Amino acid sequence: MKKIIALIMVLVSVFSVMSISVYAEDAEENMVTVTVNDVEFIFDADTSEEFRNRAIAHYFNHDEDDASAYGLTCTLFGHNIESSITTAITHKAKATDPRCLRQKFNTEVCTRCDYTNSTLISSTYISCC
Ligand SMILES: [Zn+2]
Ligand SMILES: [Zn+2]
Repeated sequence: MKKIIALIMVLVSVFSVMSISVYAEDAEENMVTVTVNDVEFIFDADTSEEFRNRAIAHYFNHDEDDASAYGLTCTLFGHNIESSITTAITHKAKATDPRCLRQKFNTEVCTRCDYTNSTLISSTYISCC
């Protein structure tokens, strides 16, 4: 019985150390990075997963806004916008240095319908790889 308790104590201490280290990393970074093909997207950590997915889909698929996709509530009362600054780094966009393209967008996503919009804020080439 003592052995079992000792084992549990060891497990508990291992888990508490692990959770502390994960927490520290999150608090330090405060960013979520998603890499799709050669593009690295950097989001604020407080964006939702749906927001990130829709921002990425919008980046690759710049289709014109389709008003028919908007919900009736949004047509009447306007969109319920969640917005955040998104950074997209296209690695090796050019053959010569600085060759990685860093773009910043203000991305807006409606939480009630399919409305997604992004406005380019800045676009610069950086040396990173
Ligand atoms: Zn909407
Ligand atoms: Zn790069």
